[in-house]
Amino acid sequence: MKDKSIWLDGINRKKFSKLSNDIMCDIVIIGGGITGLSCAYFLKDLKKKIVLVERNKLCTGTTAKSTGKLTYLQDDKISKIENIYNKDKALLYLNSQKDAISLAKKIIIENDIKCNLDSVNSYIFCTSHQNKNKILKNYNLLKDSCNIKKKKNLPIQTKCCNSLEVNDTFVFHPVKFVLNLSEIVKDKIDIYENTNISSIKKDNDFYLLKANNKIIKTKQVILACHYPFFLLPYLFPFKTSLEKSFLAAGVVEKTKPISAINVDKSVISLRYHKDKKNFLLYVGETNSLDNNVNNIKKRDKIIWNIRKNFTPLVEYCWSNYDILTWDYMPLIGEIDNNMYLATGYNTWGMTNGILAGKIISDLIDNKKNKYSELFDPKRNINNIPKIINFNIQNSFSFINTKINKNKTFYYDNVKIVKENGVYYGVYIDEDKKEHKVLNLCPHMKCSLSFNYQTKTWDCPCHGSSFDVDGNLLYGPASHDIKVSK
Ligand SMILES: Cc1cc2nc3c(=O)[nH]c(=O)nc-3n(C[C@H](O)[C@H](O)[C@H](O)COP(=O)(O)OP(=O)(O)OC[C@H]3O[C@@H](n4cnc5c(N)ncnc54)[C@H](O)[C@@H]3O)c2cc1C
Repeated sequence: MKDKSIWLDGINRKKFSKLSNDIMCDIVIIGGGITGLSCAYFLKDLKKKIVLVERNKLCTGTTAKSTGKLTYLQDDKISKIENIYNKDKALLYLNSQKDAISLAKKIIIENDIKCNLDSVNSYIFCTSHQNKNKILKNYNLLKDSCNIKKKKNLPIQTKCCNSLEVNDTFVFHPVKFVLNLSEIVKDKIDIYENTNISSIKKDNDFYLLKANNKIIKTKQVILACHYPFFLLPYLFPFKTSLEKSFLAAGVVEKTKPISAINVDKSVISLRYHKDKKNFLLYVGETNSLDNNVNNIKKRDKIIWNIRKNFTPLVEYCWSNYDILTWDYMPLIGEIDNNMYLATGYNTWGMTNGILAGKIISDLIDNKKNKYSELFDPKRNINNIPKIINFNIQNSFSFINTKINKNKTFYYDNVKIVKENGVYYGVYIDEDKKEHKVLNLCPHMKCSLSFNYQTKTWDCPCHGSSFDVDGNLLYGPASHDIKVSK
């Protein structure tokens, strides 16, 4: 079994060079996931010098670890939005997702992109009788806007008390989609890989971005980097929280044209994928961030679940994070003069990432967009009880990492050592080579725990992740951790 995303296996990719000199341009897009490349796609024909920078390789972040569903039936999100705002806003959100699906289809068809786009019936369902009313509420809300049907069961062997079905949704291969976008835009937009933006400073009418010790001077910046650590001054950490889920893919006899997600507390999400083999993708074990021991348990549990209920042949297992907002809607738009943000997709970033590309390109091109007000990142989304709760949890995680830093259980190839009062994490690889790094996240100084699944040092407080040599893989941290000399 491979501890990696099914979408990252066997992918042929073009390599882009690293930024090696100072440059000047009109627009910089930070991030090479679905958001960054969608922005690039919609902006490519503007007569501007545009640069896209990616810290790692293109499309190796959150997008590459999703389930690749393009649907507007997104658990019970529409009714949650209605609860917070009103029916009009909830239905406007629904329309935005339908439009995003149409945009995705149009891009794929017009450019003949081979990304396993398949039409599927989407379902939301509940596994407990107590949640039947959630299903009913969503039915009542959606019945005049969609061709939605009530169903007793799901066309897949899983516990279901009640469900809803729509038939105009899709699944696709997210990495093939994004890498194809990069092929389409590469002659008009300069793309740099292995180029980490570590700071952004305002300089009169320009922004100065520090990238690999080089400077990019630009008029406009798009933060398509999933977790924009640059936004501490905008209180971004207080407007969002993080959620982590585990995913597994197992070989099955036949695929079915369906995709499903439940509305119960403990998340179950399913879809099929046809490649050289037939796969069932299964998501579960969703939670806020936590420690290494839980990571191992959750990985084992998701594998056990898929084996018990669907297939013994589990070939891939991985995990993914996404950013949640307190009002369940994304943050897309201008956050400061000529600085644009697109994130907070509440686990629905395939539709919202593509939509973000369209909204931001319209804003930059001074065109009206009917969703720009709804997703305005400057809207007031402070939910004081949730903020307090989330930050108390974070503080506990922080304290826990300090108290338990040398009490965590590790197998023999990983240890935490203390030298001259400083803690280091040591990983010994298959060739008995020692990799030693400071056991401290550069973001907010939390102690790191080793993740056996990904062979990374992970921050249990805010989700930053580093390889065994301390190289930054995933933010909010902005740079690598120091390696012991
Ligand atoms: C379990 C799970 C399943 C999901 N399934 C679905 C689904 O089926 N359908 C759906 O619609 N959504 C789904 N999502 C949500 C979706 O995966 C994300 O919302 C979406 O991929 C975010 O895309 P992005 O481009 O914003 O971020 P990413 O794909 O993470 O791209 C951001 C990029 O920015 C780069 N970067 C970061 N900081 C810097 C920096 N300082 N300098 C340079 N580069 C930088 C990163 O390396 C990364 O490549 C799922 C989420 C989870 C957790």
